[in-house]
Amino acid sequence: MSLGWSRRAPVDTLVGTETAIEFSIPFAELPRVSHELASKDGEARGKVRFSRQQGQSVADLEVSAQPEVVCQRCMQPMRWPLQMKSRVALVSDYDAADRVPDGMEVFLVEADSVSVRDLVDEEVMLALPNVPRHAEDSECARRKVQLPGEADEPEAAPEAQVQKPFAQLGELLKRK
Ligand SMILES: [Zn+2]
Repeated sequence: MSLGWSRRAPVDTLVGTETAIEFSIPFAELPRVSHELASKDGEARGKVRFSRQQGQSVADLEVSAQPEVVCQRCMQPMRWPLQMKSRVALVSDYDAADRVPDGMEVFLVEADSVSVRDLVDEEVMLALPNVPRHAEDSECARRKVQLPGEADEPEAAPEAQVQKPFAQLGELLKRK
């Protein structure tokens, strides 16, 4: 059966025919994800295969993407590479969700139908960082955050070192 990523189809049909789809979905077509991104340029690529596993309707989903998010330290856009591989159980209600075996993710299906777009939107959404930041060894992390008006103050470190001998002297005096 031929099916595009945007079309909703009955879960029973997808699972029954073990439908497999390769996709390349522009971020702009992922409603929740596109809302979170700094730029809608780019796409989520991957493949999905529907089947029945351990009595569950599942989608084996692989997605790779490089969405552009905003670093919450320097507020500059940055690429956030994602590589995901997951087995998603397609359930129609919360009771069914409770019975999903460990190791499977859960996707709540509306009206027994699903589109690949819905699945990918959800998966990428879950993989996006809550507070994206450049890596700790990056230029962004090394740069000190300086508030306006605080510029060019002398370093505090030497002063702290000067006080140290006196503190030690105090300790010595106490022991006598
Ligand atoms: Zn940054």
